[in-house]
Amino acid sequence: MTDLELKSTSTMIMKPEVKIPRATKSIQVGNVKIGGPEFAVIAGPCSIESRSQFAETSMAVKSAGACLLRGGIWKMRTDVKAFQGLGSEAFQFIKETIDDSGLGLVSEVTDPRQIEMLDDFVVMYQVGARNMFNYALLKELGQTKKPVLLKRSFSALIEEWLKAANYIISGGNENVILCERGIRTFETKTRYTFDLNAVIWAKQNSHLPVIVDPSHAVGIRDMVAPVAYAAAAVGADGIIVEVHPRPAEALSDGQQSLTIQDFKTMMHTIERILEATDRSLLKA
Ligand code: PEP
Ligand code: MN
Repeated sequence: MTDLELKSTSTMIMKPEVKIPRATKSIQVGNVKIGGPEFAVIAGPCSIESRSQFAETSMAVKSAGACLLRGGIWKMRTDVKAFQGLGSEAFQFIKETIDDSGLGLVSEVTDPRQIEMLDDFVVMYQVGARNMFNYALLKELGQTKKPVLLKRSFSALIEEWLKAANYIISGGNENVILCERGIRTFETKTRYTFDLNAVIWAKQNSHLPVIVDPSHAVGIRDMVAPVAYAAAAVGADGIIVEVHPRPAEALSDGQQSLTIQDFKTMMHTIERILEATDRSLLKA
């Protein structure tokens, strides 16, 4: 198994050199390959709330150019009284929407016992920011064959994030995609602080694809698209973004969810940014 090699940052500072980014390993996620020249847009609700909400959102993001769906089934909420996700109840209806849309689903696994249950429904497991340090979960995911989207914890050093990836890779699953989703700093104007440096660093120093979650990175709807543009401009491999047909009614993260119209507008600009850098959107 090839472990990720971590270059020491101090060496990089002491010896500036022209950096040739390492070739990224592209990873097959359902029907699409992430980490090639194209830019992947994974979109959908923060939480899957009902059959109609999931179906409406999925169809809309698909027609606007998303290549994969997102949607939380088990949610890691700070407040125990907050909506915790539909859990396995969602299994009664999500398959239909996934099949109708023709897009694969990416969803978070919050507990190793959910891995098998989710297997029939997802093309990629998501490890959330709060579980990046859950090494027991990472080891279990190392035993699976499906790709894993590994979010960076809001308190993790870049090095800790890449070393967490090694827990999955060392178990035998090399299909890890990194996701920067904002870190905690002294700043309080935004929900988290988007760490663009981390995206560039991980792209230049690891062979794994790197995507950005602009929704959690800022937590404010009107700032989500600009962060996505930055991700596209610096060569990230894609984004995972929250969309809700009626954000005011969302059971989680409505304040940062794009409306369907916002999403369409963002996609047009992303395409123009990609064009300027000789790239294009990854099509489903
Ligand atoms: C999410 O993507 O729904 C989520 C909970 O994100 P994070 O783990 O980054 O907070
Ligand atoms: Mn969310």
